[in-house]
Amino acid sequence: MSGDDEALLRGAIKEYYIESREHVVVPDQIASREFGYQKLGYDGMIRHQSLPDEGALRVLLSREAPTDVYCSNARYLFPSMPMKEKEWQGADLIFDIDAKDLDMPCREGHSVAVCSECSRVSPAGGPCAACSSSKVSLRSLPCQKCIKAAHDETEKLKSILCGDLGVDPASITVYFSGNEGYHTHVRAADLDGLGSRERRELADYVMFRGAVAEAYGVPRQGAKRRDLPARGERGWRGRLAAGLGAEALKKAAAGGRDRYQGALEAASAAVGARIDPQVTGDIHRIFRMPGSLNGKSGLSKVRAGPSPAGIYAESCLLADRPVEVLAECPHRFSVGRRRSLGPYSRERATVPLYAAVYMVCKGVATAAAGAGGQGVN
Ligand SMILES: [Zn+2]
Ligand SMILES: [Zn+2]
Repeated sequence: MSGDDEALLRGAIKEYYIESREHVVVPDQIASREFGYQKLGYDGMIRHQSLPDEGALRVLLSREAPTDVYCSNARYLFPSMPMKEKEWQGADLIFDIDAKDLDMPCREGHSVAVCSECSRVSPAGGPCAACSSSKVSLRSLPCQKCIKAAHDETEKLKSILCGDLGVDPASITVYFSGNEGYHTHVRAADLDGLGSRERRELADYVMFRGAVAEAYGVPRQGAKRRDLPARGERGWRGRLAAGLGAEALKKAAAGGRDRYQGALEAASAAVGARIDPQVTGDIHRIFRMPGSLNGKSGLSKVRAGPSPAGIYAESCLLADRPVEVLAECPHRFSVGRRRSLGPYSRERATVPLYAAVYMVCKGVATAAAGAGGQGVN
């Protein structure tokens, strides 16, 4: 990233954390949390930070202008000590659902390949069109279908948590990640103390992994047979019957216990909630802080509404003064309130600041010299 790009991003980030104070969600029990962040010009993560109060968090955000800010889901007696000495006190239960894990067929069509050698931008799916290097990094531009799919998975997750596991809906807060997914935070006293193993089991449950044929009506030979799942039953039996269909279940059961077991295992991707189990099982994770900017996009992690339709506009909270960039992008895309930008063939373009930041974060633009992020109002 060039010095001009860094200046543009740093200016926009500082302005956000100074001017848009109301968007930052100050974590509860802040003094017991571990914070981490990434900043421009520094590879890797600065971790094991502790902040005594909201004031200290505000100072850190405006002084460091971090591209990404993370906060532990756990609370500790000594959050800034090395992991073994922190003294874990409990942790919010968290779930991460990301469109990149959903195998969406539209994905390649709205992704670009940014060359690691020459920084030129090509359509995804091949080498760099300019220098033929195969060292490219894939970046996805926003897509309503992808975000709708991630939103649907999140709704499925919530219905499993509340319907099967008795989680109080009031204890659940869902955030748009600021890029292509949703983060679900559960703050409940009875879940707070769960260890890593229990959380992994819980992840398996919501993903419908590890189901055994016996529980779904097909025992080993000689054992007593139960009914196959039927629509309208509670929990996974009803969900499985609705997802796969009674006929398909009957057919698999007729093939014997092993065939039926195989069908249950294969059903996980179709009927389970497609969370990232690593995130849920990690009780020492630092997780993107609500209200902070996402360095992959310049959009904010904001509370999700009931529909994903307006989320890319709702999360676009940077200023909109015009900024000049040098843009290269083979696709038309939308960001924030701008419905249509691009395509660009290595050309100068004047776009709102939020779009300039977005395009620099995605690698499809560089700041024109002197753009600086300060400037015209
Ligand atoms: Zn190249
Ligand atoms: Zn898509």
